[in-house]
Parts: sequence; C-alpha cells; structure tokens
Amino acid sequence: MSLRSDLTKYCRKVYDKGFVSAYDGNLSVRIDEKKILITPSGKCKGEIEENDLLEIDYDGNLINGLGKVSTEAKIHLLAYKKRKDIDAVIHCHPIYATAFATAGEGFIKPVFPEVILSLGKVPLCRYATPSTDALPDSMLPYIDFSWAMLFENHGAITFGKCIKGAYFRMEKLEHSAHTLFAARQLGREKTIPLNKVRELYSIAESTYGIKIDERNKVGY
Ligand SMILES: [Zn+2]
Repeated sequence: MSLRSDLTKYCRKVYDKGFVSAYDGNLSVRIDEKKILITPSGKCKGEIEENDLLEIDYDGNLINGLGKVSTEAKIHLLAYKKRKDIDAVIHCHPIYATAFATAGEGFIKPVFPEVILSLGKVPLCRYATPSTDALPDSMLPYIDFSWAMLFENHGAITFGKCIKGAYFRMEKLEHSAHTLFAARQLGREKTIPLNKVRELYSIAESTYGIKIDERNKVGY
C-alpha cells in the first residue's frame, strides 16, 4: 500500500471513530529526510482523497500539492526533527482524552496494564495557543521519550513508526480515557501497586522483548 493510500485510509478512520469533527485534526507520515506527507488545512478528514495530501519540507514549505499547509504542521515537524524513530504523527480531538486534557490531567498513573506497555506515560503539555510556536514548544519536555501526549484544553497527539501504529495509540488512548471516565462514575480508579508494575515491565521485557525507555515508565 502506498503512503498516500495508507494515510488516506487512516484519515477516514479517525473521522469515522469520532476522534475529530468538521475540519479538525491532522495526520502525516515521513516520506524521506527531505519531505513529509500531510493533510491540508480546512479539509474534513472523512472526505480526504489521495490527491488532497501535501508534500512539505521540514521548514513547513509546500513542495507538492494544491491545498494550504496547516498551521498545526509545526507539531508534526517538531516530532520528526527530534525523533528519528517517529515516521507517523496523528493529532486529533477525541472526546474523552480531550476531556481529561481540559480537566488538566495527563495519564501518568499506573491504571491499565496494557496501556502501561503500549502508551507509557501520556503527559499533559501546558496550554498553548494553536498555530503559534508555543504549541510545539509545549511538547519539548516530553518529546524525547513519549509516544502519546495531551494538549491542555485542546486535544491529543500520538506517534508511530508507521501510520497504523500512531492510529492504534490514538484509539488506545481514547479507549482508556473513556474507561477511566466510566470507573470514576463508579467511584474511583484503583492504581496498580508499584511492585506489580515492576513485574509487568520485567515480563514485557523477558517474554515479549518490549523495551521501554526508563523516562517513559509509568509508576516510577
Ligand atoms: Zn488541534
């Protein structure tokens, strides 16, 4: 599958899942060391066609395509410049994850074992005005080790080695935010004890070969 058709497929998916409304959100993939492929400004993700996608350079200049470059391209570019292991970025406004971001809460407590392994810490980036440099700057304290982040009063961003990986992190993030919301309706969430979190990490490493950056470990 080509990068264009793959990216288009996941644009439709984030819209169908309700992770974005109207013209919200942006998705991109790294093409090579000179270009990235990204959704244009002002287009509904549910209606994106392969030809709508733009090729831009790492300074955000349009290289190929007819649309307008989104002001939020900056958050994608920051991720690609800072991390060689990131080849796909998704920014959305999923309801439950954004609700936690609006309440001023990131996901850094050990609550769900699978989330600890697949997402790690999901920090809350302090509020910044969209389209300004303050938004990518707000990611700087966490970008070296995080695979998912929340933007205060705004939304969420996930990263992947491919677009499918970034998409599944977004889906997992929203699913866990929804579940945590439901747990709080029942009273409160119980966190996993630290010794059990350590056990989880050691099983992940010895059995599944999952190596997690020390800085992204939950519960430490
Ligand atoms: Zn946004």
